[in-house]
Amino acid sequence: MLVLFDIDGTLYHGDGTGRAAFIDAGRELFGDQFADHDLVLSGRLDPWIFARFMELNGLAMTPEIDEAFRAACHRHLRLRIESAQHRVIALPGTIELVQRLSELPEITLGLLTGNWEANGRLKVESIGFDSQQFRICAWGNDGPTRNDLPPVARRRYVDTFRRDIAYERVVIVGDTVHDVACAMAHNCRCLAVCTGGSTEAELRDAGATTIMTDLSDSAAVVDWLVGAEPSVVGARSQM
Ligand SMILES: [Mg+2]
Repeated sequence: MLVLFDIDGTLYHGDGTGRAAFIDAGRELFGDQFADHDLVLSGRLDPWIFARFMELNGLAMTPEIDEAFRAACHRHLRLRIESAQHRVIALPGTIELVQRLSELPEITLGLLTGNWEANGRLKVESIGFDSQQFRICAWGNDGPTRNDLPPVARRRYVDTFRRDIAYERVVIVGDTVHDVACAMAHNCRCLAVCTGGSTEAELRDAGATTIMTDLSDSAAVVDWLVGAEPSVVGARSQM
């Protein structure tokens, strides 16, 4: 089984560092008029976010600008994460859950995230994970939309282990309707959590059938993953 975790709002709470890094990078490259425009970022891919910010600010994209922006955004993200202004944390139970899953030989851990690879690795490492323990990863720059990422992860699984894996054996763990949609698009299993960008009602409306308040009950998550009825599933409260 391949378990693919989203990062922002699922494993990691960035306390605004991601958005701030985009704006910091935009202002460094284009001046202080580079504006936020209240763009909703949850569940979106970094290249999409960057392209929308450029469009909203009336700026043209070139390969050179793309490369310079990615480098600046990564540098500012690190500064923001390290700054005392923000409180970057691992979301409840995630460290323990990943540890438990890493001890199960039938489970391969991975990431499926909208982050550019460098930013994604920085985020998970900033909260105490070794990013190498996520052996199969699909990043925000691996496809035009999130729905294109599960096939990327599957192809990498085949390349790594020299055997195929059915989508029914792939689990997407995520916090937004976009995570749910990308799982449904490929008949992957989906565990939706209410620790980030979408409410329980939004996740349910998007088609999520298993929704947990957070990942703090790692025994329930493991039970659900391996097929038994979870002992506790449900949204007791919204964060
Ligand atoms: Mg997310």
